[in-house]
Amino acid sequence: MNPRILVIDDSPDIHELVDVVFVGQSYDVLHALDATDCCALVRDKQPDLVLLDLNMPGLSGFDACVQLKADPRTEHVPVIFLTGERDTQRKVEGFELGAVDYISKPFNKAELLARVRSVLRTKRQRDRLAEQALTDSLTGLGNRAAFEQRLSETVASAIRYRRIASLVMIDLDHFKQLNDTYGHPFGDCVLRSVGRVLAEAGRDTDVACRYGGEEFAILLPETRLGAAVMVAERVRGAVAELRLPFGPELVQVTASLGVASTDELEQQSRLSAEGLVASADEALYRAKGGGRNRVAAAGSPPSGAITWPLAVGDSQPNASV
Ligand code: GH3
Ligand code: MG
Ligand code: MG
Repeated sequence: MNPRILVIDDSPDIHELVDVVFVGQSYDVLHALDATDCCALVRDKQPDLVLLDLNMPGLSGFDACVQLKADPRTEHVPVIFLTGERDTQRKVEGFELGAVDYISKPFNKAELLARVRSVLRTKRQRDRLAEQALTDSLTGLGNRAAFEQRLSETVASAIRYRRIASLVMIDLDHFKQLNDTYGHPFGDCVLRSVGRVLAEAGRDTDVACRYGGEEFAILLPETRLGAAVMVAERVRGAVAELRLPFGPELVQVTASLGVASTDELEQQSRLSAEGLVASADEALYRAKGGGRNRVAAAGSPPSGAITWPLAVGDSQPNASV
């Protein structure tokens, strides 16, 4: 995908000039003639860079920059001021507001391109690091930090806008024993395979994360408890169907799952991020207590069948593990 550059300037001439500079440069250039709705625009279009005129009627570039930097959803988008200003003090003020660079008008084509490229390079590196910080390196799923972030966003939106969401907590059964029997590296392979199952289990909007160790979580926006239980049941079945080769042996693994939903907690006026996790955890605990390899929903008894043992031959169960 081409980097996206949003130009905000009240002069149509500047937009034309910028277009001329960027022609054939593999950038998508978006245009706005005033900064009034800059935050909404940036949230909506998600540009990689904003070229922002300093002097505009209505909201000035300085004020627009302040607004962009005050919103956590737009603060990381780099801003370069476009200005006729030669005044050093004004430039210093702009940097203090969080702008990354200045380009003086009338601008030199090569200089504008070089500055834009340099800012986009830094933005790419930053985005990569930010993504790494939220990714579990073993499974490629979101990590605990990503989960906490999405959980608090989801619960905040459930509280504020009465949206519904469900949470599935997943814990692999007797995983310590699997490690002890086949070794830690094989355990890691199993975690990777389970991670792939989870990534493919739900809808595109569902978020699967590694919660920690051999525990995973799936956040399902706009999903009631009953539908989330069906997803959890599908995950349980898919994990149980995995056949993981260890030499001539095909190893099987099972998982226990607990499901909770925001609407159920809301009805009890105890909706919070911690409450949702605790509720799913409590259900998971019951699934374990009920015999493992099963799904339990908050407030109802566990369902599902146990298919222990851990290791099977091609078709023959092998109870020796
Ligand atoms: P239960 O059915 O009650 O959940 O039993 P369990 O053995 O799965 O639970 P327990 O919490 O006792 O053990 C979890 C094990 O998960 C222990 C640890 O060695 C293993 N584990 C945690 N993280 C990793 C990892 O990154 N790689 C591997 N291979 N094993 C891990
Ligand atoms: Mg565990
Ligand atoms: Mg476990």
